[in-house]
Amino acid sequence: MKVLLYKIGREITSSIKLIEQFQEINKTNTKIKVKIDYDTPDAGYYYDSEPNNLYVNPSHCNFNVDCISIGYTESRHILSTIIHEFAHLLDHKYEILYKYEIFTEQYGNCLINDYCETNLFEEIAELIVLYITNPYLLYVISIKHYNFFKQLFKSPTSCGPKTFIKIRKKWDDEIKQECCDRWGINVENDTIQIIEKKKG
Ligand SMILES: [Zn+2]
Repeated sequence: MKVLLYKIGREITSSIKLIEQFQEINKTNTKIKVKIDYDTPDAGYYYDSEPNNLYVNPSHCNFNVDCISIGYTESRHILSTIIHEFAHLLDHKYEILYKYEIFTEQYGNCLINDYCETNLFEEIAELIVLYITNPYLLYVISIKHYNFFKQLFKSPTSCGPKTFIKIRKKWDDEIKQECCDRWGINVENDTIQIIEKKKG
């Protein structure tokens, strides 16, 4: 396991910046500390008993060797992991689970990846990651779920097609193809094409 320190540093810095932007526009003032822990078996974790700490284990995150997929529905990058743990913090602080339980009774779940199937906590966290990193994609996948999070928080990322196209440009071809096959969203000549809209 050989990891490049500057890459870890860069992604941690980007994630902290994104969290700061989130906190600024939502006027949430939670002190957070990102801590690196190489001993955890998971990519990251959050303990309710340590409400200000977000833990990440870079050796279990995908970066460098894997596809660029930040802002896609499946991403295990350091940035996505830290935002995921931050989402648990938001859930804990603002009791989202309770509201989401009521919401899903009426509108159902939005399983954007396998990890969402673990439990409702993880589904909320994964949806918040997408809402924060690429809200337009969540909007296209399920407007209802997008609106659920929108009435709770503002996303630091613009929910416009232009921003989506910009994010998508950074993805590897594999991810672009998967996004097209799975969610029916493609881009041709800087124009979004919705091929087949899947239910959220
Ligand atoms: Zn989690």
